[in-house]
Amino acid sequence: MAKKPASDLQNPAFADDDKAREALEAIRWPEGPFCPHCGNADQNKIARGEGKAHRPGLYYCAACNGQFTVTIGTVMERSKIPLSKWLLAMHLMGASKKGMSALQLQRMLGVTYKTAWFLCHRIREAMKPAKRGPLGGRGKIVEADETFIGGKSTSRAYKPPRKKEAVFSLVERDGESHSFHVANVKAKTLREAIVKTVDRKSMLMTDEAPHYVNVGREFALHGTVNHSQNEYVGAGEWHTNTAESRFSLMKRAVFGTHHSVSEAHLQRYLVEWDFKWNTRKTTDGERAALIAKGVTGKRLTYRPTH
Ligand SMILES: [Zn+2]
Repeated sequence: MAKKPASDLQNPAFADDDKAREALEAIRWPEGPFCPHCGNADQNKIARGEGKAHRPGLYYCAACNGQFTVTIGTVMERSKIPLSKWLLAMHLMGASKKGMSALQLQRMLGVTYKTAWFLCHRIREAMKPAKRGPLGGRGKIVEADETFIGGKSTSRAYKPPRKKEAVFSLVERDGESHSFHVANVKAKTLREAIVKTVDRKSMLMTDEAPHYVNVGREFALHGTVNHSQNEYVGAGEWHTNTAESRFSLMKRAVFGTHHSVSEAHLQRYLVEWDFKWNTRKTTDGERAALIAKGVTGKRLTYRPTH
């Protein structure tokens, strides 16, 4: 997996803003620049500003007489954070298996805590898929499982426990995952998430909890496993182990890295968690490029027309 372990962080784009801009242009404009004002992608009608009189990375569009750079319309446009640090932060967050706290990022980038915190959350936002297809399909298995995080008392002495937050995950076997911070685990709440996310032709795999009984009938097949009797052991396909092992990893990552996750931000951590899972077969570099595309794409008004 780690083909070039040492060389990754020596990428000049992580230290040099001009190199960072070129890297970003290559990611965002694989077929050459396009004008974010009018959508013009005709390379004959786009000119690069040359010389000292021009801001670096400035382009002119002959179709609308507008000017633009690769960061226009993105969160980076008005950011005081150097582009090289944005790119390094995307790489570090994409490459870290368990996630990265703002404190870690602050130390690694040499920025203030406030800047690191801002970067962390913007980068998590970029990990959110622009559009998602349904999970599963004919002959495919989708596991559903819920867990609670937080609420554990840290000492033996009595303390009022923190509120537990419910997390619900849908995982296609050998496929993608979609996790939700849900208000509760009542049948109605979970059904809403399930039918919105999972193709009805799928086989739904859950435990025997009563809240899955009715929604199970809406799918091609509903398989249940009985945890208390360990029935699923050796039962082949009949299990929710994928979702369960993801939960145990998530708890370790969330509590090992962040110690506590506030209710307000839990969904963002779940987005990151799903992103890492859904891109588990890609390289660190490819993952960083996906993030860079996500950051730039989120506030785009125009897309190139081919
Ligand atoms: Zn234009």
